[in-house]
Amino acid sequence: MKLKIAGYKPISLIDVHGYPSFALWVCGCNLRCPFCHNWRIANADRKVCGEAELGELMVKISKSVKFVDYLHVTGGEPLLQVEALRELFSKVKSLGLMISLNTNLTLASELERLLKDGLLDHVATDLKVPFDIMSGLGEKARNYWGEYLKSLELLRGYEVTLELRVPVARGITLGALGNALREILPLLKGLRKSYCVEEVVVSSGA
Ligand code: SF4
Repeated sequence: MKLKIAGYKPISLIDVHGYPSFALWVCGCNLRCPFCHNWRIANADRKVCGEAELGELMVKISKSVKFVDYLHVTGGEPLLQVEALRELFSKVKSLGLMISLNTNLTLASELERLLKDGLLDHVATDLKVPFDIMSGLGEKARNYWGEYLKSLELLRGYEVTLELRVPVARGITLGALGNALREILPLLKGLRKSYCVEEVVVSSGA
């Protein structure tokens, strides 16, 4: 089986808070965030993306096993390739590594499949507010926001750590941010562990 990827870093000290990881960037995304710094990867640009056999990836990951605690998969939106991820994560778990997934949380069914199989230890996501602008989806954003809330709800049922990042757009009001936080706060309760690691100022393009 193959995974469409843009690249990897054998040892990263910044992708999982407090742990060294093997970081892997996979291609394609269902959102179009105007602040995306990985937009070529999100667009699956052929100049930066190519297919990799899982076996080849396993050889590379195996070489890092002594030095890292996690395989961290980011993108793009990794859950668009959930079948390949399931296979890769199962193999990586057998090496004794934990799995971290950076996701926009808008593909709840795909997320649930990985959770049910016990393949996730750490999930990192952005809280994009206001979601319609920050996701680049405008009026189509409502369904995706519903998926985001559903995904947070799902995470409560599993032993998974959530890393929540809050990109703050120029012009966003504290009121809008507060409303979004109030909406998700009940969903964060009951998680094994959750933390907010960064706050960045970006232009929303709005
Ligand atoms: S969800 Fe992430 S990868 Fe996708 S467009 Fe937004 S910032 Fe970029």
